[in-house]
Amino acid sequence: MATEPKTLVQAIEYFTDPDNCLNYLVKRRWPNGNVACPTCGRTDVSFVPSRRLWQCKTRHPKAQFSIKTGTILEESPLGLEKWLPVMWMVANCKNGVSSWEIHRALGVTQKTAWFMLHRIRLGMKDQPFPGWQTKLGGPDSEVEVDETFVGGKKQNMHADKKVRYEAKGGAQGKAVVQGILDRDARQVRAKVMPNIKRETLQSEILKQVKYGTKVYTDDAVAYEQGLQRRYVHEFVNKTESYVRGRVHVNGMENFWSLLKRGLKGTYVAVEPFHLDRYIDEQVFRYNNRATKDNPLNDADRFSLLCSQIVGKRLTYAELTAKGAEKPDAVF
Ligand SMILES: [Zn+2]
Repeated sequence: MATEPKTLVQAIEYFTDPDNCLNYLVKRRWPNGNVACPTCGRTDVSFVPSRRLWQCKTRHPKAQFSIKTGTILEESPLGLEKWLPVMWMVANCKNGVSSWEIHRALGVTQKTAWFMLHRIRLGMKDQPFPGWQTKLGGPDSEVEVDETFVGGKKQNMHADKKVRYEAKGGAQGKAVVQGILDRDARQVRAKVMPNIKRETLQSEILKQVKYGTKVYTDDAVAYEQGLQRRYVHEFVNKTESYVRGRVHVNGMENFWSLLKRGLKGTYVAVEPFHLDRYIDEQVFRYNNRATKDNPLNDADRFSLLCSQIVGKRLTYAELTAKGAEKPDAVF
């Protein structure tokens, strides 16, 4: 067997072999080598090589399972030789990949490509269960907190779309995204917020940041009072100066520009409804980018993504239930 791929071209070639696909994913899913039934957890399962399936000895639904069972790939009719190179691209292309690019490169419909991308983004979301995360910061750490607004120009929008934007959005129907950057850990957390009220934005900081941390914000009204009770809070006046020594939010600004470049260049018309998934995608690449202390490469990011696809599921019905973002939208 050839060595594991280091580049996209190698990945495309490597994953044309279904055994390579299987072995690669088995290693990430069961690093200790003990294949376990995704339904009941039994490890004395038998492998059926001709079908690349496992058989569980307990009688229950899905007693016969594949490597896709219990992952974002469950029930997808598309082969791993298509899924894995696309996952490679999404994990590594700085500005993301559009469903149209995947449609053309793979010969799948754009609707299929759109669905694939959303499933992959769910895989990138580093959250196996709610509340698992430890808090950012600490008494000697510096954390930047900032918000940005994301949204299309409303005047170009169909009337019913306008209403949906306004129902969800903040200022002028735009979505509010709050981001928190731990400078030492070089980790960002970001998500769509329902509004820019003090209570909303500050309670997220309380949830995500350890007490006693140095918290830097701009001079937005939402941060004027309250934070100093739990944090060493300092702010910059955005109109006068963006930097006061170490007090600035330039790290978050840098993240917003990456996010917006991806949203504008690749996903021309993203509605706020699925914005969290696009943010998860950008956060994955940002938090796993190469740094001096942590020289991750493309193969590492892809491997990490492959290890995160288990225990997550997004069906087409779930994805389209809100009816907001149609697969035929241009993005
Ligand atoms: Zn079982």
